[in-house]
Amino acid sequence: MATTAKTWINNVIKPEQYERYLNKGQTFLDENFINSTLDKAKNPNPAYIKEIIAKSLALNRLEPEETAALLNCTDEDLWEEIFVAGGKIKQAVYGRRIVTFAPLYVSNHCVNSCVYCGFRSENNKTKRKQLTQAELEAEILALIRKGHKRLIMVYGEHPDSGVNYIAETLQIAYQTKEDNGEIRRCNVNAAPMSIEDLKKLNEVGIGTFQVFQETYHPSNYQRLHPKGIKADYRWRLYALHRAMEAGIDDVGLGALFGLYDPKFEVMGLLMHTIDLEEKFGGVGPHTISFPRMELASNTPFTSANKAAIDDKLFKKLVAVIRLSVPYTGMILTAREPAQVRQDIIPIGITQIDAGSNIGIGAYSTDTLDYDKQQFILGDTRSLDEAIQDLASMGYITSFCTAGYRCGRTGEYFMDIAKEGKVHALCMPNAILTFKEYLLDYASEETRIVGETLIEKEIAALANPGLRNKVKGMLGQIERGERDIFL
Ligand code: SF4
Repeated sequence: MATTAKTWINNVIKPEQYERYLNKGQTFLDENFINSTLDKAKNPNPAYIKEIIAKSLALNRLEPEETAALLNCTDEDLWEEIFVAGGKIKQAVYGRRIVTFAPLYVSNHCVNSCVYCGFRSENNKTKRKQLTQAELEAEILALIRKGHKRLIMVYGEHPDSGVNYIAETLQIAYQTKEDNGEIRRCNVNAAPMSIEDLKKLNEVGIGTFQVFQETYHPSNYQRLHPKGIKADYRWRLYALHRAMEAGIDDVGLGALFGLYDPKFEVMGLLMHTIDLEEKFGGVGPHTISFPRMELASNTPFTSANKAAIDDKLFKKLVAVIRLSVPYTGMILTAREPAQVRQDIIPIGITQIDAGSNIGIGAYSTDTLDYDKQQFILGDTRSLDEAIQDLASMGYITSFCTAGYRCGRTGEYFMDIAKEGKVHALCMPNAILTFKEYLLDYASEETRIVGETLIEKEIAALANPGLRNKVKGMLGQIERGERDIFL
C-alpha cells in the first residue's frame, strides 16, 4: 500500500500547475508580512476601528492592515459594534435566509497523517470504509427522505477515491431520486487535484470545490501534516487556483482553528482571498469555513491541544472574517453545539449543515459510531429541529440551488454579491424551497412556525409584482409542482 500511495502522490502532484501562480517564486502567504502587519496593528485607535466597520458596511473587502486592526481590538463596546455590523452586512447581501446542507462522508481511506484527524493513516482503531454504489444510493435516499437537497460530499485522500470514483459517486447522487426527493447540488471536499482532473469533476456537475488549508503557517503545517499528499503545502495552497483555472468558479476556503495562532489564520484566509481575486478578475472564494478542532477517537492531539479557542474568541474571529470579506458566504458547521450556533449565526453566517451524521454509511443505518467518524459533532439535532429553531430566530431555511443551474456562479455571483443584490434575487427562491420542505417533510410544529415566517417574508418583498408572482408560485407548489424557481 505504501508504494501504491507514493506512486499515486507522485503522479498527482504537478508543480508546474502552481508555480505559475507564485509571486517571484514565493507563495501569497508571506509569513513575515502577516506577523509584522499584526504587530503594527496593536492598540488600534477606536476611530480607525469605526472607519473600518463603515468600510465593511459599504460592502468593501478589507485590506490586511484593517483586518489586523480588528483582530487587535480590545474594546468590548467596539466588539459589540462589530457583531452588529456583521449581522447588517449579512442581511444586506444575503437577507434573512440560511442555506442548509448535509455532509455525506463517502470514504475514509486516507494516505495522510494529519495529527488531529481520526482518519489519519496510522489510526488502527478507525473502521475503514468506502461506499459501494448500493450503499451510496441508500445514503442518498436516507438524506432525501429527511428533506435534504444539497450535500457536501467528503472523500479521504487516497488512490481509491481518486477523480474517477468521485465523478461516479457525484453522478449517482444526482441520479438517485424518490417521489419529490432529489439532491440538486453536490459540493465536494476532497484531495487537491490537477487541472485535468478538476475539469472532469466540472463536467459531471460539481458544485463548490472545497479544500481547507487547515493552517496557513508553513512550518506548523509541515509539523502537523508530516506524510502523504497533504505534506505538500504548496500543492494544497494553490488547489483552488487550479479549480478556478479548470472552470470550477465556486471554490471554498477554510482554516481549522485550534492548530495555530487564530489571528494568523484569519490573515491567511484574507491573503488567500486577495490572491484569488487578483488572479481571477476579482472573483474570490464562494465560501469561507472556519471549523474549530474537535475531539476525535484515538487521536491524542485533539485532547492535549493547547491552542484550543474558547467561544468568546471564536465569535470575534468569525465576526472579523465577516467584515473582512463582506460579500462571501460563511459556513458554520455542526461541529459547534446548538447554543454556539444560535449565538454566532446572527453575526453573519450564510450556510449551516443540519441533521448531520458524519459516520460512513451512517444515515441509512441510523448509527453513531465514533470509530467511523473524523471527529465528534457538537450539534446532533435533527434537520427538522434545526429548521424549526432557525425559523423561530426569523430565518428562512433555503435549499435553493436555482442559481447554479441558471449560471449564477463565479463572476456573475460575485458581482451581484458585491452590489448587495443576492438577497433580492435569492429570497423568493429560498421561500419556494422552504415551502417544499414544509409540505413534504416538516413536523406539524415546524410547519406552523414556518408558514408564519413565509407570510412575513412575502409581505417584506418590496416589489408588489414580485410579491404576487411568488404567491402564485407558492400556489403551484401547494398543487404539487416542485423545483420551480425564479
Ligand atoms: S484531515 Fe483529511 S487528509 Fe488529513 S488524515 Fe483526515 S481525512 Fe486524511
